[in-house]
Amino acid sequence: MTAFKALGLEEHLLKAIADMGFETPSEVQEKAIPILLDRETDMVSLAQTGTGKTAAFGFPMLQKIDVNSRTTQGLILSPTRELCLQITNEMVAYGKYMPGLNVTAIYGGASITDQARQIKKGSQIIVATPGRMKDMIGRGLVDISKIEYCVLDEADEMLNMGFYEDITEILSHSPKDKSTWLFSATMPKEVSTIAKKFMHTPVEITVGTKNVGSDQVTHEYYLVNARDRYNALKRLADANPEIFSVIFCRTKRDTQKVAEQLIEDGYNAAAIHGDLSQSQRDTVMKSFRNRQIQMLVATDVAARGIDVDDITHVINYQLPDEIETYTHRSGRTGRAGKTGISMVIVSKSEVRKIHTIEKMIQKKFIAKEIPSGMEICEVQMFHLANSIKDTKINPEINAYLPNINEVLADFSKEELIQKVFSVEFTRFLNYYKNSKDLNISNDRNFSDEDAKDSTRYFVNIGNKDDFDWMSLKDFLRDLLQLGKDDIYKVDVKDSFSFFNTDTKHQEMVMGIFKDFKLDGRQINVEISKDTGRGGRSSGGGRDRGKRRGDRSGSDRGNRGDRSGGFKKRSGGRGDKPAFKGKSRRSPDRPDTKGTGGRRRRKS
Ligand code: ADP
Ligand code: MG
Repeated sequence: MTAFKALGLEEHLLKAIADMGFETPSEVQEKAIPILLDRETDMVSLAQTGTGKTAAFGFPMLQKIDVNSRTTQGLILSPTRELCLQITNEMVAYGKYMPGLNVTAIYGGASITDQARQIKKGSQIIVATPGRMKDMIGRGLVDISKIEYCVLDEADEMLNMGFYEDITEILSHSPKDKSTWLFSATMPKEVSTIAKKFMHTPVEITVGTKNVGSDQVTHEYYLVNARDRYNALKRLADANPEIFSVIFCRTKRDTQKVAEQLIEDGYNAAAIHGDLSQSQRDTVMKSFRNRQIQMLVATDVAARGIDVDDITHVINYQLPDEIETYTHRSGRTGRAGKTGISMVIVSKSEVRKIHTIEKMIQKKFIAKEIPSGMEICEVQMFHLANSIKDTKINPEINAYLPNINEVLADFSKEELIQKVFSVEFTRFLNYYKNSKDLNISNDRNFSDEDAKDSTRYFVNIGNKDDFDWMSLKDFLRDLLQLGKDDIYKVDVKDSFSFFNTDTKHQEMVMGIFKDFKLDGRQINVEISKDTGRGGRSSGGGRDRGKRRGDRSGSDRGNRGDRSGGFKKRSGGRGDKPAFKGKSRRSPDRPDTKGTGGRRRRKS
């Protein structure tokens, strides 16, 4: 808190900041706030998404305006309705100890009369999308002729969305001597043009290297035939039962198509794109926020409004046309101190784009292989086992237990386990039994010959124990006294993980783990049936692994209410796998097996 004070913020803001739970300023805040407080200047600030830009302009604006006046003094332009509302909420929260403060959100798709009425009451700050703002100025419903501060937030995106003319028009109604603060994640030509046009010798601030993505994000690519794209996507989802992801497509049409197919195949998916009505979009976002949707298929534009902090995976179903856009996409994960994975599904003709992106983000991609069917089965099985273990017992079951016990009285625990898993898996195993390898040859892979000499292990520690793949690899190397490349294919799931060593180390590894405890807990290692074909992917450009700092972030949702495992999809085409990623469905949709044709809500 003293760190915020040192930036020159007043007591009432410090109090609100404490209420928000912010402890130290982020880099962009540290750099921007003192300057903006200290002088009337224009500013161009480049920083990735999730770096706290809202507060970087929000705190100074709040401190500088006069709440006793009802004149509009600050205007914040942002590209989407979602962001507009998000910024408004943040401003209100920061200004909670400023009696008389009025922050009004102006955006399309809602009643213009209501918004005009709010403005009339006297808003010191207006947060607006350009389209509606221009409209309201044109109708004389809002007056910005006296503003002192104007923020262009996500300037690159506003320009991408074609708001250049609207912005020009809006700013022509504002005073020449105001201060303009531009915030952007990237600096394409268009942004420099706008900076030149509307600003006078702006102070420039860059956080991190330009265009470089968050350090918290690992980048992976998967090389497949273009026709296998969708199947590859499904496998990636299946191999990550806890996935909570945004999937990017290039067009609205593809977005809709992929989402529909996923829903058809029994996943908790939905589409979000510009052809949906505002209320449809709101519904989708609400379901995504409370995890009824695990896979949100989005266009780049629609995804800009997604302010969800614990997205585990960003999947680039198709690469964006503009390479710059990749940074925005991957910036949806790895936010607020959490780690994330950005996956790209590419066909051969697109591989060179990966290299271009690597140059831009200054990080290496890891070439990974689409998991095999057996690998997925194994992951799902362990996931189910763990979910059963963690399931809170529902006392309402007790009433039925005597009868259930009677039916099952003749079976041993082993038999029961076999049966439970057979119920869940037979269809699924059948589906994947003869599934083909979706990977196309890639120099970085090792051959099947190599795989024979490799042993894959399962270990019952994972994300939940604060491991990511780097820290687990380091941990194993130290423990097993093996060299840097002797442990590979480290794959960390929520509560368990996999790794490979050459088969010659197998005996030694099993010996060490025979009776091994970590923090008093028994650690089990088993030999996995799958050989774990696939790249000996070693860590791209990331720093050597530290354990995760933010524990609360990785443990998504409340484990207690998870009903365990994945569930069968009923009805529909018989050739699809009989499961979906995770069985978190809305409470009004009980899981009724075999009722046929049940569909999850479409967006
Ligand atoms: P950006 O606009 O750069 O994408 P936001 O302003 O939306 O980032 O901030 C991202 C998240 O980080 C928000 O949830 C915000 O409340 C939080 N945040 C901002 N500043 C801090 C801070 N100093 N400490 C902790 N959390 C912060
Ligand atoms: Mg922002």
